[in-house]
Amino acid sequence: MSIEITLLGTGSPIPDPNRAGPATLVRAGGQTVLVDCGRGVLQRAAAIGVGANTLDALLLTHLHSDHIADLGDVIITRWVTAFPSESHPAPAPLPIIGPPGTAAVVAATLTAFGFDIGYRIAHHDDLTAPPPLDVQEYTEGVVWDRGAVRIVAGPTDHRPVEPTLGFRVECEDTAVVLAGDTVPCAGLDALSAGADAMVHTVIREDLVQLMPLQRFKDICDYHSSVQQAAATAKRAGVGTLILTHYVPALVPGQEDEWRRLAAAEFDGRIELGDDLHRVEVG
Ligand SMILES: [Zn+2]
Ligand SMILES: [Zn+2]
Repeated sequence: MSIEITLLGTGSPIPDPNRAGPATLVRAGGQTVLVDCGRGVLQRAAAIGVGANTLDALLLTHLHSDHIADLGDVIITRWVTAFPSESHPAPAPLPIIGPPGTAAVVAATLTAFGFDIGYRIAHHDDLTAPPPLDVQEYTEGVVWDRGAVRIVAGPTDHRPVEPTLGFRVECEDTAVVLAGDTVPCAGLDALSAGADAMVHTVIREDLVQLMPLQRFKDICDYHSSVQQAAATAKRAGVGTLILTHYVPALVPGQEDEWRRLAAAEFDGRIELGDDLHRVEVG
């Protein structure tokens, strides 16, 4: 069975007029899973007809601001756009699956939106309780097993951010790995072995090192370069490498340059592009 991957946001912490923050949508076996929720995620999802109320789960690779910037928007918008029906008198809680710390971030987000939640409960007779959520924290192992879809989390290395997770989404005999932000590591190698595709954050180390700002150069410490991500894909034997979270932003006309750097280490299919770039595997 095929798995469809849509790069909802290919940006980074640096605001970009053309790139939303990090977020990837995975659709498989009739289920829709959002991985990370960077700025603008619901605007991009709307562009492909996906609403917050149709998400089956939200997965968080880690708690860096660029990956959770729109967590509040996802939670509140899902809440106010999910309508009770006869078969489902109470909307299903949104599963939010992430590393330890996720529950604290979600609780703080609900607190931040506490006034809003109170206003809406006071105003709408059919909203009687805060957003229903089902927060689960993992460091590794099976995090989802529903219908034809199974999701496994594995540890990645984005220190000093820790713990961080990669996710392997499996649907029958097809598997896709969402690596997130990480340097090459044994955890990701194990998680991604034999997968059909891997979505990986990439940094152009050659360009970043030209910047005369140490704070910018620091990002090379805990991200993979294009070549490192490609080497990880090669070691894992994945068929398709999907590059995202480009730093610096991928500029139109430079695609072949990025592709060449990856192709030096990886001889499979290489996908990259703009927000809403869609890849189907399996
Ligand atoms: Zn990060
Ligand atoms: Zn990031």
